[in-house]
Amino acid sequence: MLHRRDLLKISALGGVAALAKIPAARAQPATAKPRTRIVFLGTKGGPRVETGRSNPANLIEINGTRIVIDCGMGVSHQLAAAHIPLTTVKDIFISHHHSDHNLEYGNLVYNAWATGLSTPIHSFGPKGLEAMTKTYWELNKFDIDTRIADEGRPDPRPLLIAKDIDADGVVLKTDDFTVTAFRTPHPPITDNFAYKFTTPDGTVVFSSDTDYNPKLAEFAKGADVLVHEALYAPFVDKLVARVKNGATLGKHLLESHTTAEDVGKIATAAGVKLLVLSHLVPGDIDVTDEQWTAAVRKNYSGKMIVAKDLMELPLPV
Ligand SMILES: [Zn+2]
Ligand SMILES: [Zn+2]
Repeated sequence: MLHRRDLLKISALGGVAALAKIPAARAQPATAKPRTRIVFLGTKGGPRVETGRSNPANLIEINGTRIVIDCGMGVSHQLAAAHIPLTTVKDIFISHHHSDHNLEYGNLVYNAWATGLSTPIHSFGPKGLEAMTKTYWELNKFDIDTRIADEGRPDPRPLLIAKDIDADGVVLKTDDFTVTAFRTPHPPITDNFAYKFTTPDGTVVFSSDTDYNPKLAEFAKGADVLVHEALYAPFVDKLVARVKNGATLGKHLLESHTTAEDVGKIATAAGVKLLVLSHLVPGDIDVTDEQWTAAVRKNYSGKMIVAKDLMELPLPV
């Protein structure tokens, strides 16, 4: 576990410089911005890159600290589209090592460096993240060394500080918020973590990809916002029919994810104030909000929304 005070010791000087670099045109008046907010950057599940929803990624901002949860393909572009300078990202949490959650992890930090990153980014994720970080820098060694020498840029490698998570519990604690990890099954992956953000404006839980897991409802008990993945069961057959690996893919979807009906059960058992469906599967076939909602409503009668890319949710809800 790291405490933010320790991180500040590392980044105190660089932090001021980075903030000053935010272009004035993108800065928003302090009064217009909530203290805590979630921005849904990419809301479809799976690795296919298409023209509709972007691949999985979320931002939570807590009293000025910007944290990215999952780095599916497109996360850098979606942050730019949300007018969030990449250089202002402070922490990255990866839920698991499926590519729709980590494919742009290194590139996000690279892209931040390309736009002037000068403060450390701390990343957290299941076992393998530290190795992936090291390998990423090796993969891009030629370009980085060239730009350092040729363009006078700082070395980005010390600016990304990765930490593998191997157990449930508090991962990061600051004066403003606490992040707690919770392992949840996503067969065949077992190193897979839901994350709870306890903030002054409420508690937010991101489910990660997960099989239907009643224990997740205990972890999310009383949360203000539960962002849960969702599978629209009637469309699994349609999805399966159009790809060569259909039968195996269909089996994976049903055994590794949670149907919208079962998401409703989790939300009811947890007693959350607001349920948000994201990581929608299928996300590239036109399932309407009404269809998603009707499936959840079989087991949940509270407030809910179906996330869309670049939707902003201010807290408290
Ligand atoms: Zn996924
Ligand atoms: Zn997954």
